[in-house]
Amino acid sequence: MSDLKYPRVLLKLSGEALAGERGSGLDFDALRGFAREVKAIAGMGAQIGMVIGGGNIVRGSQISKMGMDRVSADYMGMLGTVINALAFQDVLEKEGLDTRVMTAIRMEEIAEPYIRRRAMRHLEKGRVILLSGGTGNPFFTTDTAASLRAIEIGAEVLMKATKVDGVYDSDPARNSDAVKLDTISYLDVIKRQLRVMDLTAISLCMDNGLPIHVFNLFGENSIRRIVTGESIGTLIS
Ligand code: UDP
Repeated sequence: MSDLKYPRVLLKLSGEALAGERGSGLDFDALRGFAREVKAIAGMGAQIGMVIGGGNIVRGSQISKMGMDRVSADYMGMLGTVINALAFQDVLEKEGLDTRVMTAIRMEEIAEPYIRRRAMRHLEKGRVILLSGGTGNPFFTTDTAASLRAIEIGAEVLMKATKVDGVYDSDPARNSDAVKLDTISYLDVIKRQLRVMDLTAISLCMDNGLPIHVFNLFGENSIRRIVTGESIGTLIS
């Protein structure tokens, strides 16, 4: 445990990540790749909480633009995150990890309700906890859920996987001169509207002094390297 910079982490994967090249649905090859990274840090003694998004299944804001009631659409989105967590649980368990899915909305035939003390106990016993259902409330995102849960469970870092290798001073997809930042403050992310996470998520981390490490999901051993203290990606603090 002693050679880990972050002994307890909250790892946030977007739903899109789970879709891999497919763009939607689930790509089990991608899931197996992430599961092996999670297994590697679990083997090093890291305690791991995960929040998985649902954008590969339903995004409430998009569905509501098609005419559906926003609150119901958001509940659909939250249910999507449970589907993803069950899929990832299966893959993690096939890698030999002990896991629990917990839900922010009760559905006890499927998974345990999220109870903070119980979640902490699972972590202490070395189980990977998959915290699904977002915050349980409409109008929030799973980034905010990840910030909230990370603070609640006392994680030392929120690790946010993205498709690029960190935070840039402008959108690297649109601007070839965009410069990657190694570190940045919460306030600068907000002021410069860098959109790495929504404002609610960033300000929750800022108010509670929780560092956010943004990294490339597809980078070689990214998760392992961050947990052992390598400065890859971007650190927001
Ligand atoms: N959602 C919600 N409340 C939450 C978290 C998520 O209503 O606390 C809904 C919302 O509709 C969102 C969807 O679940 O669009 C999927 O989550 P998100 O968009 O954050 O997933 P990601 O972009 O990480 O895949």
